[in-house]
Amino acid sequence: MAQQRDKNTLSVNPLFARPGEDTIALKTKLADGQMMPETAYQIVHDETMLDGNARLNLATFVSTWMDDHANKLYAETYDKNMIDKDEYPQTAQIEQNCWKILADLWHSPDPEGTIGTSTVGSSEACMLGGLALKRLWQSARRADGKPTDKPNLVMSSAVQVCWEKFCNYFDVEARLVPISEEHKCLDGFELEKYVDENTIGVVAIMGVTYTGMYEPVKQIAAKLDDIQASTGLDINIHVDAASGGMIAPFIQQDLEWDFKIDRVHSISTSGHKYGLVYPGLGWVVWRERQWLPEDLIFYVSYLGGDMPTFALNFSRPGAQVVLQFYLFLRLGREGYAKIQQACQDVAVYLSSGISEMGPFELWNDGTDIPVFAWRLKEGHTDKWTLYDLAERLRTKGWLVPAYPMPSNLENLTVERIVVRNGLSMDLADSLLDDIRKETEYLDRLESPMPQESAQPGFHH
Ligand SMILES: *Cc1c(COP(=O)(O)O)cnc(C)c1O
Repeated sequence: MAQQRDKNTLSVNPLFARPGEDTIALKTKLADGQMMPETAYQIVHDETMLDGNARLNLATFVSTWMDDHANKLYAETYDKNMIDKDEYPQTAQIEQNCWKILADLWHSPDPEGTIGTSTVGSSEACMLGGLALKRLWQSARRADGKPTDKPNLVMSSAVQVCWEKFCNYFDVEARLVPISEEHKCLDGFELEKYVDENTIGVVAIMGVTYTGMYEPVKQIAAKLDDIQASTGLDINIHVDAASGGMIAPFIQQDLEWDFKIDRVHSISTSGHKYGLVYPGLGWVVWRERQWLPEDLIFYVSYLGGDMPTFALNFSRPGAQVVLQFYLFLRLGREGYAKIQQACQDVAVYLSSGISEMGPFELWNDGTDIPVFAWRLKEGHTDKWTLYDLAERLRTKGWLVPAYPMPSNLENLTVERIVVRNGLSMDLADSLLDDIRKETEYLDRLESPMPQESAQPGFHH
């Protein structure tokens, strides 16, 4: 081991032959001694090199690139702790600026007077939205002298896993409305069969993780209006706009999905998805302050008693919040619109190219968020599946996951592409070429591919 070697060898330090580099590092136990920082750096650096190339990862929604100014700001602020609002009052102010910008972008009736917060991601933001719904429901039930032991939350079977976590961690029944070929996402169909007096809310997704489709929030709200008219139940909506919250305001301005709809009480988004910031950053904003129950808010006294905090975590990095503000300033509406439109153009170029190849059928085409999924046409082949195509593309460096759809459609396999800022038309064209070549290769096979290669690689 390095630390037992003759100290003299350290003064020579030939590249990749230094003590510690010519042996295998201890990885799951602490070594007794120390290591040269250069050596430790090289080992960790080299190990991370084995990770895939982030730019070719078309499975993830999360940002993998920011410009040099952002990188500089990141380096200047990576020591800031978001919770130390006392020590970093300006970062706390920047956080407020950001959620007010979002409240305004999402048409809150009172962007200055409402409330919001940054989080580590949409998962935490969704949990906070869910908790507010649950607490409001509990208070209303208690006021009526009714039991509060069986809350349920109604949502599509294609929700992101964070909602199943919310329900599991906070003891809420998850009422999943199954998607089907006819109802490809939650659209209000038969909603009356799922909601009842114990329903704390309905989740509508702007950019379903499985496919990229927008759920028609306005239509869902209209259905809830009907339900209220016939039953008296007044049920509100949290919009999980993890992706769409930073797309729709810029390139689908006519779409009504946000606080313009009265039943939408809270909206969450991921700053690190189409907000274009490095991971991890999320946001949640309430329509008006009354929809975040006061008893969930903690006041940090060392700030004069007026700095409200509402989050699951205490300490977490503040740098991402600073980066979000940088992008809001730098890009404005025009810049975000250009970037999101460019992503959508690439998504539509890819989806039409794939649908023209013959063997494939699109589930959707990338005109909501720049994400789309496709399936193998029925009867095209029994020799290979989309898992085989995913595997073949992986050998070229592309990560394009295939996975089963959620329950009710679990026998349907789809493959999905997430277009992020950085997937240029030119790269997309190479990808289409590779998909075409690999599909032809699979079609030429004389015998079926062994099917144990089917490994659902679903990336939320
Ligand atoms: C990604 C995603 C989430 C979870 O977001 P994180 O920021 O990764 O925690 C929740 N809902 C939807 C619809 C998503 O796409």
